[in-house]
Amino acid sequence: MSKVLVIGAGGVSSVAVHKMAQLIASGEGPFSEVMLASRTVSKCEDIAASVKQRTGVDIETGAIDADDVAAMTELIEKVQPALVVNLALPYQDLPIMDACLATKTDYMDTANYEPIDEAKFEYKWQWDYQDRFKNAGILALLGSGFDPGVTSVFTCWLKKHHFDRIDTLDILDCNGGDHGQHFATNFNPEINIREVTAPARHWEKGAWIESPALSHKQVFDFEAVGEKNMYLMYHEEIESLKTHLPEIQRIRFWMTFGDAYLTHLEVLQNVGMTSIEEIEYQGQKIVPLQFLKAVLPEPASLGETTKGNTNIGVIATGEKDGVKKTLYVKNICSHEAAFEETGNQGVSYTTGVPAMIGAALVLSGKWKGEGVFNMEQFDPDPFMEMLNEHGLPWTVEEMEAPLGF
Ligand code: NDP
Repeated sequence: MSKVLVIGAGGVSSVAVHKMAQLIASGEGPFSEVMLASRTVSKCEDIAASVKQRTGVDIETGAIDADDVAAMTELIEKVQPALVVNLALPYQDLPIMDACLATKTDYMDTANYEPIDEAKFEYKWQWDYQDRFKNAGILALLGSGFDPGVTSVFTCWLKKHHFDRIDTLDILDCNGGDHGQHFATNFNPEINIREVTAPARHWEKGAWIESPALSHKQVFDFEAVGEKNMYLMYHEEIESLKTHLPEIQRIRFWMTFGDAYLTHLEVLQNVGMTSIEEIEYQGQKIVPLQFLKAVLPEPASLGETTKGNTNIGVIATGEKDGVKKTLYVKNICSHEAAFEETGNQGVSYTTGVPAMIGAALVLSGKWKGEGVFNMEQFDPDPFMEMLNEHGLPWTVEEMEAPLGF
């Protein structure tokens, strides 16, 4: 039984902590205690109150600025967790990894590092810690959310059980939920808008193919949602999957957006509100995108009004025993059910549950190693089993043809 230190107190953290507490309450392990620390301590206290009410489990709370490596190091030394679960923002990945190195503590997150002044999603900064983590004898598990995370596990589960070789992979992320707001994002608005407005990039025959943001779309009929426009985008798991499964000739990522969302985004972009360049306003320096985040609804506040389902999965085409086939693995998650169970909407739920599962597998020693690892480097079976047991059941089906362009 082990103690974890969770950093960050947004929607994802709330779901992960509720799920860890459910396991503590059941006594089945591997969690013994959870300490939750974030920049705004009142948000930790709100989560702890909800967890207490729903599960009866007490969560210790505290304040931390995770950008401050010395303060993070001191907190880890005081709490003595077996694992630090970083559910703050991607900007905090490196300072928290530094504090884990200083205290020789295992590390886990759900999103790759990105410098605050440069919208650039790349694993290179975190992969650079490989030797230091190895030499310290500790593990870093990167990207244990849904995408990245479950989508990477789905891919290597398909490879392990259904293919001798995967040739093409499409990752399909559909949020069919309606939150009743004119414009809001389902996870941190700053990260979400930086991701959506970046140029699209996919991997094909050993090279990156770049296209303007949102320039390729196709209609797909998502089960439990219906027909939706989905757009080609860059997403971080493409980089790790093409590195760890180099046989895959083409990897693409698609996300659905409604017309109203895109129209709002276009206007905000045209007027400069999505810029990450600092500007001077009434004698103060502000970043337009950070200001925009401040006026948009908090993702965690959307839970109560969000109705509908998410549907996220992967479609792989490849060969087994000389026969070509296409398989589709996916999970459908209800926003209403997620809210009823944890007080959070489905996007936080589909990320927080895999965060809890990744942490559980590291703590139980089912996933172990020294160095920096992505999800697809471990055995997918125990993760797939836990998805079914902890609220994100999946299905696999054969498709008649691969996804077109
Ligand atoms: P939120 O913005 O709701 O929450 C982020 C939390 O981190 C807030 O509590 C915030 O504190 C805290 N925080 C920010 N900066 C610091 C700091 N310097 N020190 C301590 N705490 C800090 O985000 P989400 O819960 O929606 O997302 C959490 C993470 O999950 C993000 O990294 C996101 O990119 C990732 N994610 C991954 C997905 C996946 O499928 N892999 C999908 C969705 C999200 P404060 O309240 O004070 O601002």
